Amino acid sequence: MQTAFFHDERCLWHGGGNYSFTLPVGGLVQPGGGLPESPETKRRLVNLLRVTGLMALIDAGSAPAASRQDLLRVHPARYLDAFKAASDAGGGELGLRTPFGPGGYEIAALSAGLAKAALIAVLSGAARNAYALSRPPGHHCLPDFPNGFCLLNNIAIAVRAVQAAGLAQRIAVVDWDVHHGNGTEAVFLADPDVLTISLHQDRNYPMDTGAAEARGNGAGHGANLNIPLPPGTGHASYLEAMERLVLPALTRFHPEVIIVASGYDASAVDPLGRMLATADTFRAMTAMMMTSADTLCDGKLMLTHEGGYSEVHVPFCAHAVLETLSASAITAPDPLAATLALRQPGPEWQAHVSAHITRLAQYFY
Ligand code: ZN
Repeated sequence: MQTAFFHDERCLWHGGGNYSFTLPVGGLVQPGGGLPESPETKRRLVNLLRVTGLMALIDAGSAPAASRQDLLRVHPARYLDAFKAASDAGGGELGLRTPFGPGGYEIAALSAGLAKAALIAVLSGAARNAYALSRPPGHHCLPDFPNGFCLLNNIAIAVRAVQAAGLAQRIAVVDWDVHHGNGTEAVFLADPDVLTISLHQDRNYPMDTGAAEARGNGAGHGANLNIPLPPGTGHASYLEAMERLVLPALTRFHPEVIIVASGYDASAVDPLGRMLATADTFRAMTAMMMTSADTLCDGKLMLTHEGGYSEVHVPFCAHAVLETLSASAITAPDPLAATLALRQPGPEWQAHVSAHITRLAQYFY
């Protein structure tokens, strides 16, 4: 069995809004530039996969858009209707920093459809593991409030679809995007069947969510794990947090499938994060997830693409993930590896983060 890779050029045509970086244009903010969430990070990944030859070794294709019934399992009809109406009228913006152009509704439904198809491919045994190059991303989107470039919660839609189809019930989501997965957390906060884990830069975005104290509500208490990490967390500390906090939580929960919200904005050169991850960090974290999935759930592992805003670095980080998933010898060496190795934190800072991880481990376990 191969690694399945779901992507669609139409997802790269999502756009809209009048922003200069994250700032609405107006006053003293000169127009131009657009939002950092641009299609280029993803298009360059597809191009890199073709150039190295890895694309030929994975099972690449598109998928149908998520249906309205799929969307309604997560999002209320009034939100979907408002989104569709604005999309049909030529585009607009709902929520916070989530502009879309004409047809944006259909593109977002397609993005969710890629995630749904990837999860079904893994659970049905059609693929060894799978990756969805979803765009727009999904992990910030609340049921009725889009934010942080996310218009529909792709992972939640995929999870609810496979639960409704009886393909799996106990599902774990590990979110290593540098920002808190507040939308995914909100959907599953009271749900004991879905473990949500988010590693993120402490109080980056959103600034008011992602604290370790948010552990789930009611029957879902204990099925939400937030791991806020200080700015400057590097390669070694990311792996330590995975090893000491994420892997034990997965083992205790014993999911039927593991989903990763794979953002690349913990990259050391990302404009929206202040962490020091490298392509090797993502390679190593993927290997950890594969080992955990092998042990717990017959290797069933699916990743969706979330954030990541360095047009030059994201493709190399994601290529490292895909070459690991597919156990391929084809590699795309990180051109920033030598520079970023020099920028890794020293032992004093690593010890500081390690003590923070110890406090979290004592609090959680
Ligand atoms: Zn992010």
